[in-house]
Amino acid sequence: MKTPRIFIYRNPQFNRCPVCKGVGVLHHSRAKNMREQIIKKITFYRLYRCKECGWRGFLSTIILTTESFKAILLYLSLVFATGYIIRFFLLKFIGT
Ligand SMILES: [Zn+2]
Repeated sequence: MKTPRIFIYRNPQFNRCPVCKGVGVLHHSRAKNMREQIIKKITFYRLYRCKECGWRGFLSTIILTTESFKAILLYLSLVFATGYIIRFFLLKFIGT
């Protein structure tokens, strides 16, 4: 069975700057506070800074496609189905 690819990795350093549209001007930026560190740790977003115009912000390191959403829906329904089955057996054999 073919496993659908959920996330397609990309390197935002090759993206255009969202402000000045410069190419090859984005560089990794350090997280300056707790909030930025948390976002960096738990999401796919990383901090970047533009060396041309000074823009600084988060850019996603992955791309989600329609295939991704289909795959996520499929996995979620599997999780819920499994949860439901486990709950059913627990209630049946252990009782309330
Ligand atoms: Zn820029």
